This record gives sequence, structure tokens and C-alpha cells, in this order.
Amino acid sequence: MAKKQFKTESKKLLDMMINSIYTHKEIFLRELISNASDAIDKLYFRSLTDDSVNVKSDEYEIRISIDKQARTLTLTDNGIGMTKEELENNLGTIAKSGSYDFKNNSDNQDIENIDIIGQFGVGFYSAFMVSDKIVVESRVHGNNESFCWTSTGADGYTITECNKDTYGTKIILHIKEDTDDEKFEIYLEEYKIRELIKKYSDYIRYPIKMLVSKQELKEGSENEYETITADEILNSMIPLWKKNPSEVTDDDYANFYREKFYDFQAPIKTIRQKAEGTTEYTALLFIPSHAPFDYYSRDYEKGLQLYSSGVMIMDKCKDLLPDYFSFVKGLVDSSDLSLNISREMLQHDRQLKAIAKALEKKISGELEKMLKNDRDKYEEFYKAFGAQLKWGIYNDYGMHKDVLQNLLMFKSSKDKKLITLKEYVERMSDEQNKIYYASGDTVDKIELLPQVESVIERGYEVLYLTEDVDEFALQMLRNYNEKEFLNVCTDSLDLDSDEEKETLNEENKKNEELFSYIKDCIGDGVTKVRFTNKLQKHPVCLTTEGAVSMGMEKVLNKMPGAEDNKVKAEIVLEININHPLAKRLTDLYENDKEKLSDYSIILYAQARLISGLSIDNPAEISDLVCNMML
Ligand code: ADP
Repeated sequence: MAKKQFKTESKKLLDMMINSIYTHKEIFLRELISNASDAIDKLYFRSLTDDSVNVKSDEYEIRISIDKQARTLTLTDNGIGMTKEELENNLGTIAKSGSYDFKNNSDNQDIENIDIIGQFGVGFYSAFMVSDKIVVESRVHGNNESFCWTSTGADGYTITECNKDTYGTKIILHIKEDTDDEKFEIYLEEYKIRELIKKYSDYIRYPIKMLVSKQELKEGSENEYETITADEILNSMIPLWKKNPSEVTDDDYANFYREKFYDFQAPIKTIRQKAEGTTEYTALLFIPSHAPFDYYSRDYEKGLQLYSSGVMIMDKCKDLLPDYFSFVKGLVDSSDLSLNISREMLQHDRQLKAIAKALEKKISGELEKMLKNDRDKYEEFYKAFGAQLKWGIYNDYGMHKDVLQNLLMFKSSKDKKLITLKEYVERMSDEQNKIYYASGDTVDKIELLPQVESVIERGYEVLYLTEDVDEFALQMLRNYNEKEFLNVCTDSLDLDSDEEKETLNEENKKNEELFSYIKDCIGDGVTKVRFTNKLQKHPVCLTTEGAVSMGMEKVLNKMPGAEDNKVKAEIVLEININHPLAKRLTDLYENDKEKLSDYSIILYAQARLISGLSIDNPAEISDLVCNMML
């Protein structure tokens, strides 16, 4: 029988597994046991609707046996089994989930390997970290034929017909020879297998059995022992979330999370909730410490696993999590849900809605607690998922702002650290009645905006918004604790006294012709030109009128489909009335309009640059400035 080649991607991954320097090789056992358990689940599911599957629930089992002479470790399950095609497809190609990032990482060497192994539960192939040959015999329940898949590694695999007399799958690992650095022999030791199962697979719902020899007192004797060989169940089979919390360590939760949700890092927070009363359920939730690689993409699917009395009925129940908490992983187990409930029915299920509501409250409560009691941890969380909370505020017309607004943080002008809105408001002086903010690409750039400088100069704190979603979220919130949000680069910034305003108004009126001339020189770029007295040392700045700020204009026009339908902020060029330049411009208007025209164009370009915007005509500006130098 000719050898078949693995698909390219799979081959690379396989190579990595075989040559892996990964220190946690032991996880292979957990991976194979999970697969076996999944396979039994599948048969069990089928038995619910297919009468021909006549398996009693206590017959399901996973079995492990060790043959030291032959150096083999064998895992058997009586699950759904694989057809010839399935052996080919499932074991000839790596799991889809892994392939995406694998592509991106495949050029880098071992450091990346570790991530891949940890991140994606690469499953079956991990067995090649400890084996130099793997034989998989499988027979689908109800089929007569069985097939055998054999591989000694990257050179390919063969599939032949075989004689497996029971349904399910048997995986025979030929354990590698020991090297100077590594003892693979330990995987042929009973104690090690016991230890690994306790560590990683204790909660598996099906018994993991092993034939073990024990010394026991001979019947009727008080000091004579005999060797008894009997099956022992190595796992407690109690789901982690059903165990007494005092018996479960943080490590247990972390291990469970890593394995079940394919993360290589421990969660930043584990939340366990047991609800009694009208709706009874147990929830075990995890907040990851970092965003999964696909989190901010369309591919990411939110959801919690749903169990009915310890039996999984759905892998990703979307309805249990609001979008803004879509990063939460975990499961809910409720005895109130029927085993055979369909997806459509679930959507309308009142119990489920009640659970979702309670979970939302629990999650936001726990996050608020973290913010209060463990600021560093919260900031780490916020770095990973803060953008999602902000989108949550913006979406659904601000419907969820009450849940989310206290979880928001922004950097501020005070010490450029993240602060909450509550902290901002608490620090406000009595005469301040607005929450000031400014947006830009980076904190440093925002800090240089003339308007920001002038607001800080007056003793006010300014929030620095650096993410696209920020300003949209604040606009949706409108106010916090009755204090309105205000972009300091808009014309609503109103810091002058009545007297100052009046003088300014007069000046503006007097110079209407000048402004109109300047505006004509600039063209479409601005809707208005006027004097201002809010600037300190800068000669000009740009301010917007209306709902769309310059930051928002930038974000909106970046969105897909925006090309034909550009949004335009109404931009005002403001000239510092206290700057010598103001006088110069009025003079030029009287004496040298041509020069004024050049000045206008240059001033507008300067103002754009200061605001963090680009200019359309850099060559023209450069020429104008050059001419002035000569
Ligand atoms: P994953 O479990 O992440 O899908 P694996 O590489 O571990 O990736 O397994 C690939 C596929 O092979 C599984 O999805 C499953 O369809 C099949 N498989 C693996 N082990 C078994 C088994 N013991 N019984 C039946 N099918 C199995």
C-alpha cells in the first residue's frame, strides 16, 4: 500500500511536533482523551435520535493500557469511530482552527511552536511529541468494516483495512526511545498516567479505565497479600463546576480553561456562580488575559457552552452573552433545560433569557470589583477588551450605557494614566461643568493640540481619546453624572467671560470682509474664518461646528464603502486675536492682498498639521514658504 503524503500545512506542524522542544509534552494524553470523549459524545447524541444505536449509558468508556515490553501506550474508546474517508480527512489535515495562525507563524522557529501547541489544542498530532509511530484502528458504530491508519511521522501515512471487532477507535502509540535529555519511558508508567489524568482529564464525563495490579489482603487472612488485577477508574468524572469550590484550586480552573478554550495563558479572572431559586444553574466563566487572535475579526464567535445536568447540549450558545461581553468564555449548566431542546426553541426560552440577564449582571459586577480592588489587573483586562466595551456603549443606540459606563477608562492630561469617568468627575472643580476631551492618534499628539494646551492652562483636565471608537462612544453617552462631554476642538468650547466674548464679537464683526477674503483663498477646506482668544501661543487652530468632529470625519471616511459618500466636518479656521499675526493680517488686507492670499494658504496648512491632519498640497506649501524665505 502506497504511502500518502500529509497536506503541506499538516506536514509542517507534524515536523514541529516531532522535533518539538516543548516542555509540556505530557499534554498529548489530555488531547487524545478529549478526542475520545468527544467521539463518545457524538455517539451519545446520535443515540438520542437514532434507535439503531443501542448503547446503554454506562457502557461508554475510555480505556488505557500499557505494554512496557512493546513500549506501547494504547487508548481505546467506544465512541462514534471513523470511516476510511474520515481517517484520511481528519488525521491527514490539521484542525482548521489551528491552520490560520499556523500559516502566519510557520517561518519562525521553536518559540512560535510553543504558542501554536498551547493555543490551539492541536490535538491528535501532539502524540508525535512522544511517539515515533502511531497506529489508529477505527470502526464506525453500525459498520462492518474497519480501517487502520499508520504513520511513523512526516513521511506520510497508510490506510489499510483491518479487523477491529468492536466499534470505536483504538490508538496505539509507540513511545519514543529515551534520549540523554528526555525520558519518554515515564509515559509507560502507571503512576504517571494516573497523575496526568488527575491533572488534566479528571472531569471527563466518561470513565477512563485502566487495568491495574494491586496488592490486597487475602480473604480471611490478616497478613497475607495477593496480587489482584482489576479495572480502576482513574478520573472522578465530576465536572469541575460541580465540585465543592473548596476542593478546586486556581490551578485546576486554569488548566481546565486552557484545555477547554484553547488558550495558552491562564485566565485573568475566573467567575463561578451558583444560582438557586426560580432558575437554577451553575456558571463557570473565564475572562481571558488577552484577546484571541481572531477576536476583533468577523470570524470570532461568542458564546458559552450550555450543559443540561452535566451533559453538553450546545457548544456556543450565543444568547447567553451580550456582544459587549463576547470575550467571556465558559459554560452554564442548568437542570432546568431539556436535553433535546432545539436551537430555535432555546432562543425563546425564558429560563435562558433569565440566565443571560443574571450572567450579564454578574460579569459587570465582577469587572467593577476588579477595577476597585485590583487596578493593575483591570487595566490589563481593559487593554485587551476595552474597545469592545466602548463599542458596546455605541451599539444599540446607547441602550447598555448603564451597565458599561463605569467600566470605561481613558488616558488623561493629568498624568497620562488611565482614569475612569467617575474619577474625572470627582476631581473636577466646582466651576467646571463639562468633561473635556480631545482625540488624536497618540497621547503625545493630542497633548500638542493648541486647544488642549489652552484648556489645561486654565486648570482643567482633558481626556485623551486615541481609539477610533472613543469619540463615538462618548457622543452616545452624551453625559456622565449629568456632566456633558465636550470635545475641546469644537466651537462649543466656551471658556471666555461675557466681557471677553463681547470684545471678540465686535472684532469679528469688524473683520468680516477680511475673513471672507481669507476663506476664499483657502477654498473648500473651511466653512468659516474668525478670531479667537482661546489660544495661548499658537497663531491658528481648527475647530469644528456641528456633530461631526475632525476625528470622527477621519474614522467615518475610513470605513468600507465611504469612498463615494465622504463625510465632511464643518471646519472653522480660528486665528489667535492676541497673536501679532492678527494685526499683520489686517494690515495685509489693506495693503497687499496678494501676500495675504499666500499667507492664508500657509496658515491653513499649518493649522491642519497642528491638528494631526494631512495636507493635500505639500509641494505648493513648500514653494510658498520658500518664496517667503528669499
Ligand atoms: P480537533 O480535536 O481539534 O478537531 P484533532 O487533530 O485532535 O483536532 O482531531 C481531528 C479530528 O479527528 C477530530 O475533529 C475528530 O473528528 C477526529 N478524531 C480524533 N480522535 C478521534 C476519536 N478517538 N474518535 C473519533 N474521531 C476522532
